[in-house]
Order: sequence, then structure tokens, then C-alpha cells
Amino acid sequence: MTVSLDATLDAVLRRNPGENEFHQAVKEVFESLELLHSRHPEYAEAAILERIAEPERQIIFRVPWVDDEGKVRVNRGFRIEFNSALGPYKGGLRFHRSVNLGIVKFLGFEQIFKNSLTGLPIGGGKGGSDFDPHGKSEGEIMRFCQSFMTELFRHIGPDTDVPAGDIGVGGREIGYLFGQYKRLANRFDAGTLTGKGLSWGGSLVRTEATGYGAAIFANEMLKAKGLDFEGRSVLVSGSGNVALYSIEKVQQLGGVAITASDSSGYVVDEDGIDLDLLKQIKEVERGRINEYAERRGGKAKFVEGGNVWDVPGEIALPSATQNELDGESAKTLLKNGLIAVAEGANMPSTPEAVDLFQEANIAFGPGKAANAGGVATSALEMQQNAARDSWTFEDTEKRLTDIMVNIHDTCAATAEEYGRPGDYVVGANIAGFQKVADAMLDFGVI
Ligand code: NDP
Repeated sequence: MTVSLDATLDAVLRRNPGENEFHQAVKEVFESLELLHSRHPEYAEAAILERIAEPERQIIFRVPWVDDEGKVRVNRGFRIEFNSALGPYKGGLRFHRSVNLGIVKFLGFEQIFKNSLTGLPIGGGKGGSDFDPHGKSEGEIMRFCQSFMTELFRHIGPDTDVPAGDIGVGGREIGYLFGQYKRLANRFDAGTLTGKGLSWGGSLVRTEATGYGAAIFANEMLKAKGLDFEGRSVLVSGSGNVALYSIEKVQQLGGVAITASDSSGYVVDEDGIDLDLLKQIKEVERGRINEYAERRGGKAKFVEGGNVWDVPGEIALPSATQNELDGESAKTLLKNGLIAVAEGANMPSTPEAVDLFQEANIAFGPGKAANAGGVATSALEMQQNAARDSWTFEDTEKRLTDIMVNIHDTCAATAEEYGRPGDYVVGANIAGFQKVADAMLDFGVI
């Protein structure tokens, strides 16, 4: 890395002490940008990196709510409005007990480049709360969402900041959040939130988009190597929105998804996951992953507390959470014949794991490229809302597929241009950054 980028990186790390995930995300992007900065000194002269690593606005707020026993509970809410050079801030809300400022900032930072890669006019943001939805009643979830929105509503809007879902925030939560927004704002601003219900402004394919997109991206990487999904065993982690629809698209592409997991452990089903059963347990009943093995009539095995990456498979789609796939897991996967990884989750592979994948020369699609289908389809939802229109499933899925193929090709071409053929990390970081940086140059020092 050049001296000037080192100094800039040091300053960012010092200014944001203890925010480990944010440090990890910034380091990864800065490492790729050395190549770009040596060709484009104008970015350093305008301090684009210093500015891009500093959120435009950080909102932290109290979220008080009353539980079913009448006890007052207090959580912390976050919204990081990171960068609006390309459009309104756009990015999901995460409700998970682990959420803190560093996690929301890492997600918001990644979101800037991911959104840029989609080619659509959206800036980067992210938010959430340390609220833990597990085991909460419907009433508690609703009251929490209403309290969260009571503060957030003044900061968002269709041309300002457009949140969506993430871990712990699905269609149900978006419904409660939108209901409270509509009431407080006294406006049916459909374009203020995405991931909405289909009868009140949602887009077909939004539910499927992130998982479908990750599998499509993996397929493009395989094609670039003259390979395909046909008959290959695929390891998927998680069993939430991204995991379920990754499995669905893998199956459509001829692959055999054999695993799924949650925070209690994983299941392995060598015949291929029975997706109807898994959806019933996870989407309808909100149950635990062991129930899948129990109801699969002896065909599947549940491994409590186990590591899903111990299972042999050729393609891995990590779709649960950050840093879920470490160096040891990467070594095991490679030993077991891994050929490709596409990150459905955000930053699921640790830096050591990424290095090992790249040294082994397997196809590795980083999250900001591979999981961009979700936010891309959110932007399509915004387009439909602005035009008061709704598109068919086929039309919307075709647009999603085109966007994912385009992101793949852009990353591949950029990596090639910078002398790193096949390096999707460098390709995604440079291509994503450059568009934002050029817009920032046009705006002057703001
Ligand atoms: P969901 O809440 O629908 O599902 C998350 C899944 O991951 C659950 O099975 C959950 O298990 C598991 N999980 C979460 N945290 C942990 C943990 N610390 N340890 C083990 N398992 C865990 O979330 P999504 O599917 O929406 O999101 C998954 C990932 O994809 C996240 O990284 C998210 O940022 C990313 N992403 C999501 C997009 C979207 O459109 N939804 C878009 C782009 C990226 P359990 O229920 O036991 O907690």
C-alpha cells in the first residue's frame, strides 16, 4: 500500500476506536484502491478517501417500549447516512442483539460501493437496533417497530433516505414500520421504505432478490471458468431471507443445496434441501433449524452448535452474518474440493479466509457484488412507486438477472483493467468506488 493510503487508513482507524467490523471493511476497500490511486492522483488531492470514510450524518437514538408484562424496555436505534453522492441514502435496518455503531458503520460503508455497482441512483446508508426479536410476541415486535419509527420518521423520505430490511427485519417489521411512518408523516410515501407488502407498494421479486442474485452471481463466476451448477453440491449457511432464496435459485440452476443453518446449528440433507418444508418452518412458523431434521423422516441430520463449513461441498454461499467463515473453515472447505464462494451475507468471510480463497485461485464473489441484487430490486421498487406502477414477476426478475450479470462483468473487466484478472474483490472495490468518487469531485468540497 502507498504511504499516503496508509496514513489515511491510520487516521480513519484512530478516529473510530473499537469499531472492529468498520475497521475491517475500510481496510479491505483501501487495500484495493492503491492501484486506482496510483493512476488517479486527483482522488487523493481532493481527499476523497478521507471524506468517503466519514459518514455524512450519524443518528443514534433511544427506543423505549413496553413489553407484555408491562415493563419498560430501552434499546438503542441507529441510522448512518453514509454517502448521498449518487442518490438518496439506501440500505437496510438490522434488529439483532449484536448491533452497535461499528457494525452499522461497516454495513453502511459497504453499502456505498454495492449501491454504486448496481448502476442505479442510490446512495449508501444503514441502520438498526440492538433489539433482539427472538422470542418476542407479535405485540412486542409491533410496539418496538412503532417506537423505533417515531424517532426515525423525521430523518427519512423517498428522496432523502430509504430504509429496507436486513437481519431480523422482514416483511412483518416493514409493515409495522411503514404503518407508523404513514401515520406520523400523514402521507402515503410508498418510496420511503422498500420490502413492502405486495398490496401496498411492494415489488414482486424483492423477497427473492438477494438470494436469487447471489446464486446468479455464482453462476456467472462459474460460467467464466467454463463450469456450471449442474449436479454440484452447494453449502448454504443461514435459513433467513437470503439463504432460503439462494437455495431456491440454486435448485433452479441445477445445483443441489445440501445445508442450512441458524444460530443453534446446521442441518445437512444429502438429497437436497426440501425447500417447502424449510420455508414452512422458517417463514411461517418462525421455528428452529433442528425441526427441519425432525420432520424430514430420517433423511437429514441436525448438528447442534456445529460448523456448517465442515460439510464437504463444491460451492459455498455464506448467507447468515459477518465473519461466519474464518481461516480454519476456509482451509477445510478447500481441502474438501471447494471451487467457488459467493457471499450472500455482508462480509461473512474473515480477511484470512478471503486470502486463502484467492491464493487457491477459486472464484470468490465478495458480498458487495454478489448480494447487491436485494438493494437493486429495492431501487426497482422505488421506480415502480414513483411511477405508481407495478411490474410482473418475469419482467422484474429479468431486470434483476441483467443487473447481476452486469455487476459480474463490470467487476471482471475492472479487475482485468487493473492487472488482476479474476480478482472480484479488487474489481468490485475499484468499480464501486470510482463512480462515487467522480460524483464527489463534481460536487466540490462538501
Ligand atoms: P434473516 O434475519 O432473514 O436471517 C438471518 C439468518 O442468519 C438466520 O438464519 C439467523 O439465525 C442467522 N444468523 C444471524 N446472525 C447469526 C449469528 N450471529 N450466528 C449464527 N447465525 C446467525 O436475515 P437476512 O437473510 O436478511 O440477512 C442475512 C445476511 O445477508 C446478513 O449479513 C445481511 O446483512 C445480508 N444481506 C441481506 C439482504 C436482504 O435483502 N435481506 C441484502 C444484502 C445482504 P437465527 O435466527 O438463529 O439468529
